Amino acid sequence: MRSCILGLFLLSPLLINVTAVSIVKRQIEGAPLRISQNDAEVCKDKSPREYFRLSSDKDCREVMRCSSQGLQVLRCPSGLFFDIESQTCNWRSEVNNCDQVEKRKLATPLFATNEPICSGNQLACGNGDCMERELFCNGIPDCSDESDENACTEHDPNRAPPCDQSQCILPDCFCSPDGTQIPGKLEPNNIPQMVTITFDDAVNINNLDVYHDIFKEGRNNANGCSIKATFFVSHKYTNYSAVQELHRKGHEIATHSITHRNNEKYWTNADIDTWAKEIAGNRLILERFANITDNSIVGVRSPYLRVGGNNQFAMMEEQAFLYDSSINAPLSNPPLWPYTLYFEMPHKCHGNGQHCPTRSHAVWEVVMNELDRRDDPNFDEELSGCVMVDTCSNIITRDQFYDFLNNNLRRHYNTNRAPLGLYFHAGFLKLNSKFLEALITWIDESLEKNDIYFVTMTQVLQWMQNPTELSSIREFAQWKEKCDIKGQAYCSIPNACPTTTRELPGETNRLHTCMECPHNYPWLEDPTGDFFAFKK
Ligand SMILES: [Zn+2]
Repeated sequence: MRSCILGLFLLSPLLINVTAVSIVKRQIEGAPLRISQNDAEVCKDKSPREYFRLSSDKDCREVMRCSSQGLQVLRCPSGLFFDIESQTCNWRSEVNNCDQVEKRKLATPLFATNEPICSGNQLACGNGDCMERELFCNGIPDCSDESDENACTEHDPNRAPPCDQSQCILPDCFCSPDGTQIPGKLEPNNIPQMVTITFDDAVNINNLDVYHDIFKEGRNNANGCSIKATFFVSHKYTNYSAVQELHRKGHEIATHSITHRNNEKYWTNADIDTWAKEIAGNRLILERFANITDNSIVGVRSPYLRVGGNNQFAMMEEQAFLYDSSINAPLSNPPLWPYTLYFEMPHKCHGNGQHCPTRSHAVWEVVMNELDRRDDPNFDEELSGCVMVDTCSNIITRDQFYDFLNNNLRRHYNTNRAPLGLYFHAGFLKLNSKFLEALITWIDESLEKNDIYFVTMTQVLQWMQNPTELSSIREFAQWKEKCDIKGQAYCSIPNACPTTTRELPGETNRLHTCMECPHNYPWLEDPTGDFFAFKK
């Protein structure tokens, strides 16, 4: 399996986002945009979100979409074909449906009929059979045409209700109809602008110097506490003594799975048990080998941001996780605040194959607002947003990156001050030292303003649960907890344990830890590496 770090540089097919490809409007020469007779015919029963081919013998890179302005053409970058089933550009060798002109239609349930077909607590399958409402969108096909499990992202009949602010009350519940309201109804000018820097994947000596440069001693928020980040750590290649040191310095450690498998369907369709093994199992590994004993691993990010629908969130409730940060919100001005999932999500399910939860869950979503990739929004043409900074691929120079950071900060700071998330893979900054320099300059300038705070995701939620104005923010207790870094690193020479597991035959992995070496390399069935699951 390819490591995630490598996958990033190769631009893994899973990271290619159709919206990142330039979309060209087809215009009628000299005339304003309008829908031609032909387009109207082609678009008769097409959803505006669906890409299709005009014919099967056309270039496999090119597809169309119906919009209010007529047909829009999308061309994949050279080397890629458009996969009509997954609706994304992908490597040519991976696409096997160039002869297919449109996505296969699945049978959908009959909810919107003039007269209800079924009575009582029953709803109609696509073929007209009646079935109990609870059986729709429960992850198991019950209708003979399996239509009860289709159309679930948009039409789950058991979905969470829309935001009801009379019921949804802080500190445990927070929602607003469009997701943009400030907690506690405070005025934007009176609240801190929080910035959350996150890093995904393995923590090891390849990326420690990047973290060291950014989180240098003395780089403090206005309350005198060092600036903090959140690390979504995946297991393989992680050095647990390095994680222990990040945790000691007050950064937040969160979980990003054991295997980080590069298979989109694995995450989209995983059952609750698989999610628990991957995510809670990884928490167990982190706690054991990075000696994290304060129950502070409460955050989850799914690999490749492949949100796992209701199963992922049901697992998170069962395993007492506080928040997820994998769901993308489309670029918007003003941006969105994090929300709880007791009520319906305040935005559409967006992004590359995201499988959003529809049911009510006792989990916070630290939503990933897309960034504006333009370095000059006043002059540049409109472009789609990007969610991980490393996918904002149009940025080339140091100055462009610096302007990009300021433009995005402005969109948050001058509107509702929703937390600004800057989501990185360390490799991006390691490969582009000029971006790292620009980031550090930008952080230092931001800190001079005294109302911009670089905090962890849990600290964002602590603030939201107890909205505190700028006038008393320097004394805000929860942000003072990990203020001073005391003492020495836990160990200077960690154990480098050469370990194997029967789950990965033929592989020996070195596990670096200040703790005792495990018998086995920890993996899905044996996360503590002590034969526990194999003893029987
Ligand atoms: Zn990752």
